[in-house]
Amino acid sequence: LLSAEDVTLSFGSTPALRGADLEVGEGDVLAIMGPSGSGKSTLLHCLAGILVPDSGVVSFAGRRLDAMGENERSALRRDQFGFVFQFGQLVPELTAEENVALPLLLGGVRRAAAVREAREWFPRLGLDGLGGRRSGELSGGQAQRVALARGLVAKPRVLFADEPTGSLDSLTGEQVMELLVTSARAEGTTVVVVTHEPRVAAYADSEVVVRDGRVHSLAAST
Ligand code: ATP
Ligand code: MG
Repeated sequence: LLSAEDVTLSFGSTPALRGADLEVGEGDVLAIMGPSGSGKSTLLHCLAGILVPDSGVVSFAGRRLDAMGENERSALRRDQFGFVFQFGQLVPELTAEENVALPLLLGGVRRAAAVREAREWFPRLGLDGLGGRRSGELSGGQAQRVALARGLVAKPRVLFADEPTGSLDSLTGEQVMELLVTSARAEGTTVVVVTHEPRVAAYADSEVVVRDGRVHSLAAST
């Protein structure tokens, strides 16, 4: 469904990716591991069309992201991809359910329908009764589950998650990861998740390790 071939990218004189190759199958949950600074986030951003590589090919569903214009790429991100980041990055001025509704509003769904759809995620993620709270009134684990709901609400083909449990203690992190994988599998969503934690990676179908800007594959984790 999604692939990178011989992708290189430098930030000024700092090479972040040096010939990265990766393939993600439809419906797969792939964990990207590797040391700090090895290029994991950069690779995720290239796969998601947020960064354009200096060279190499990134394809999604047979289309080359690196050959698209920025408008086409941002439409693709909005319509096909969902995102969850380390610190949730909820909009503090909005309630939890308004945060979850955001991707739907951006996709042109009307407000009442978007909020109604957003609300359906709260019981599924153990967030009953928290829809009206602002992000400052949520615990870290609750905020991360709200961010997860926001990543999934528009039914993306691919969910990209960069250290989605990185700001949580390990038990809470495992619960969030379990919800992430269970929800994604229920929706048939492909998942690319960057994580430092082997216990989190254990929820994935397969794992790769990034070292010095290159991808090394491991055997399937199950
Ligand atoms: P971490 O586990 O700490 O999040 P990472 O594997 O995600 O690390 P990247 O963020 O992909 O690593 O960074 C890869 C390399 O690119 C590092 O050397 C980093 O310093 C550099 N880098 C990343 N983003 C930028 C940027 N915006 N400007 C300059 N250099 C950057
Ligand atoms: Mg990173």
